[in-house]
Amino acid sequence: MTTMREMTEEKNHLTGFSNEELAEFTLEIGEPKYRAKQIFKGLHERRLQNFDEMTDLPKALREKLNETATASVLRVESHYVSTDGTRRFLMKTHDNFPVETVFIPTENRDTICFSSQSGCPLKCDFCLTAKLGLLRNLTAGEIVEQIIIVLNDVYGVGEETPHGTNLVAMGAGEPFLNFENLIKALGIMADENGLFIVANRVTVSTAGIVPKIYEFAKLEKRPNLAISLSAPTDELRDKLMPINKRWNIEELLRAAKEVQKTLRRGERFTFEYVLLGGVNDSDKHARALAELLSKYDLQKVKINLIPHNSAEPLEYHPPEFEQVERFKKILESKNVSAYVRRPRGRDIYAACGQLAAKDSPNLIQKV
Ligand code: SAH
Repeated sequence: MTTMREMTEEKNHLTGFSNEELAEFTLEIGEPKYRAKQIFKGLHERRLQNFDEMTDLPKALREKLNETATASVLRVESHYVSTDGTRRFLMKTHDNFPVETVFIPTENRDTICFSSQSGCPLKCDFCLTAKLGLLRNLTAGEIVEQIIIVLNDVYGVGEETPHGTNLVAMGAGEPFLNFENLIKALGIMADENGLFIVANRVTVSTAGIVPKIYEFAKLEKRPNLAISLSAPTDELRDKLMPINKRWNIEELLRAAKEVQKTLRRGERFTFEYVLLGGVNDSDKHARALAELLSKYDLQKVKINLIPHNSAEPLEYHPPEFEQVERFKKILESKNVSAYVRRPRGRDIYAACGQLAAKDSPNLIQKV
């Protein structure tokens, strides 16, 4: 796949350059090729966002880099910390579009939830990000830089990325509508001379861009996949997720079966189901969902049930706790594994579907 090298206001954003592009760039500025590897390590392994800190490079080269390139295009505008330890970073691009990234600590491993677009063009009725509309696609460099900023904040610049850190493309945006940049960014982050976060530590979530699901299934080093389903019938899904009018449940599940054929040993892919009180959470819906999966022979998937995270002006609310449990039990009784996703960071608008560049309490830093 060939991609355009990234420029920001006339400067090369090296964070979004692949190894090959960096090699080409160093040759262009009259430097030997081995410098490319040093720069790549400085940017990704040491997570430096400033060439002056790359003291293993000659001063003249650092100056040349400062003139022609940049290692930082995002600025953190505010930073919130939830009572449960979740952190939300509200960043801005050089042209002032919001980018949100969430750090979710758990006992055994940490997860970083990043955005693939500023805003989102899909109009899922229960999601706050949808209210922003699409502002623009993020570049590969902007995707990678989100993760670098979070890792530096949490673990410190230059400190090793803890083994086991997971990434999820579940922030703002529809990752499969920014496919090329997403895949390029994931390639850069998987490099063993860099962050070294390999594909099977990454989960990409899609609302159902069917042609891209087929493309995804063919990738050699494929991340894990999650598909947002949220309704067992076209009638209901059309209302909740209008993308369903473009590709309906049948087309979506046929594509899902294609991914199922390529599963690694022990890998299961996930369907997400946002539970909306009184809308898609009845016993009948649970049974219809189990039947649908069995019709397509997809019982081996796992279902993540996400009780709705409310936020003004969304009119939905989560079901009562007992109904969430009933829904889960019905699925399990039909041999479908179901898990309830514990909401994280609701108090700071960091939970699923709440990313909309909002100010919130618990601000710890405003730049
Ligand atoms: N556009 C992609 C990536 C977003 S992932 C997708 O739709 O899959 C975010 C997940 O949170 C999706 O499963 C989405 O359905 C879910 N979600 C959106 N709004 C929500 C809300 N208010 N409460 C709970 N989950 C929500």
